[in-house]
Amino acid sequence: MQGLIMDTPLLISSLIEFAARYHADTELVTRTVEGPIHRYSYADANRRAKRLANALAGLGVKPGDRIGTLAWNTYRHFETYYGVSGIGAVLHTINPRLFEDQLAYIVDHAGDSYLFVDLNLFPLVERLIEKTPAVKGVVVMTDANSMPTSERIPNAICYETLIAGQSERYDWPTFDEKTASSLCYTSGTTGHPKGVLYSHRSTILHAYASALPDALNLSAGDSIMPVVPMFHANAWSLPYVATLTGAKLVMPGPKLDGASVYELLESEGVTFTAAVPTVWLMLLAHLRESGLKLATLKRVVIGGSACPRSMMEAFEEEYGVQVRHAWGMTEMSPLGTLNTPKAKHLGESREAYFDRGEKQGRPIYGVDIQIVGDDGAELPWDGKAFGDLRVRGPWIASGYFHLDQSPAHGSDGWFSTGDVCTIDPDGYVRITDRSKDVIKSGGEWISSIDIENIAVGHPGVAEAAVIGVAHPKWDERPLLLVVPKGDAKPTREQILKFLDGKIAKWWLPDDVVFVKELPHTATGKLLKSKLRDDFKDFKLPSA
Ligand code: AMP
Repeated sequence: MQGLIMDTPLLISSLIEFAARYHADTELVTRTVEGPIHRYSYADANRRAKRLANALAGLGVKPGDRIGTLAWNTYRHFETYYGVSGIGAVLHTINPRLFEDQLAYIVDHAGDSYLFVDLNLFPLVERLIEKTPAVKGVVVMTDANSMPTSERIPNAICYETLIAGQSERYDWPTFDEKTASSLCYTSGTTGHPKGVLYSHRSTILHAYASALPDALNLSAGDSIMPVVPMFHANAWSLPYVATLTGAKLVMPGPKLDGASVYELLESEGVTFTAAVPTVWLMLLAHLRESGLKLATLKRVVIGGSACPRSMMEAFEEEYGVQVRHAWGMTEMSPLGTLNTPKAKHLGESREAYFDRGEKQGRPIYGVDIQIVGDDGAELPWDGKAFGDLRVRGPWIASGYFHLDQSPAHGSDGWFSTGDVCTIDPDGYVRITDRSKDVIKSGGEWISSIDIENIAVGHPGVAEAAVIGVAHPKWDERPLLLVVPKGDAKPTREQILKFLDGKIAKWWLPDDVVFVKELPHTATGKLLKSKLRDDFKDFKLPSA
């Protein structure tokens, strides 16, 4: 017997309709690429998304077509989130920080018919265009006054001109909720980037779950600033959670330095923000240098890479801002685990609070997790056993776009994340490494992330990376690479002494090397494959 409930498909257009109807005058504020601050309401945003929908139809865009964006977090990018997906086409957000060859590969592989590009990324598209013959047109997300002229793309379309002539009347179509809505490529350290194809259903379910108190804890009372880019796993779904809750949305545009982020946090009464640790290092450095405080910010979600304890302590104790450590992946829409306390943790000591807070958290409803050993057998949740983390759930990718085979997607319905972790009896995950970055010394695993997190707590250390280096007796031993902070000149001995007692003796790195900078991927993660390559002939003193 079936329930007697309306069969309303979960469609992304319903989010903007909801916000426009019930939070009509709630603001969406943007630091534009052109410079000035722009502000309008959800009702305005919906009208303009509808103009865009009409314009896309005029360009001949059909359901299922892919529309690429190379753009920062702005109101125009927000309009494409709704305008493109709303008509049943697929919004393909592209990370402009990727190498040009990777960009060309992605645009070609996705089969993008149009590219929507921010003004300051137009030169990048001019270089790309010859390598992407299937692209029919380029839309520059600016107004007629700022429109660039181009020999390579003489017929580039101006976004404002494109939508100006269109009606703001449009009825969002109704279709199957499993229809593809957006596409985001994730770049590993090897091989081609792989496309994760989200659906309307997965996006809405993920947004519902993300808003919950034990997840991002968002409501109409919040002012949300997504610093995490809209090209990185849909800005961790914030452009959808904002409309779902009716929260104010503050878009930082292309300027993500400490001073610019701070200015918007304060002027727009931001209560919630989210980004990778690197962004927060810049903000904290700015706050300390200028002696500023954070007046309205209540919560910050930090993920994408492990959040060091020292960062958590700085936010909470110096600035009164609660840190929520989160773990996820592009393949997971992206939220998997978030660190919030259970009732039994209330009243825990300061030490216990940060010990728990350092972990990546526990699964939110909708995400099922397990850890398995090399033989595929499930490992216990004792907080000690390390294993490969596997996940499944209604917003986790079941495969990659136009890729027949994906070894990570098992026939048993689980997806192997490529992360190695422990899980404690309460279900809190501690990520210790990417499986390909794991250091195995004498057959035992050493967590490079744990050592890095402790090392950056040293006052003279700006950034740290730990890699395994070949060793005749132990197979591999850890080598610590350190970028000194400012003018600081910490010594090898000082750093090792700082680590001593905070980790197991046999985890202590065999050597410390000081470097000017460390290589990163396009999403800001340490590029350890490059480091391993650079240091493959390094002779450890103990070897
Ligand atoms: P991406 O798909 O670019 O978001 O990258 C996902 C990967 O980032 C994960 O598989 C982890 O390796 C890493 N990651 C994400 N969040 C965290 C975190 N809180 N701590 C450690 N690693 C993380």
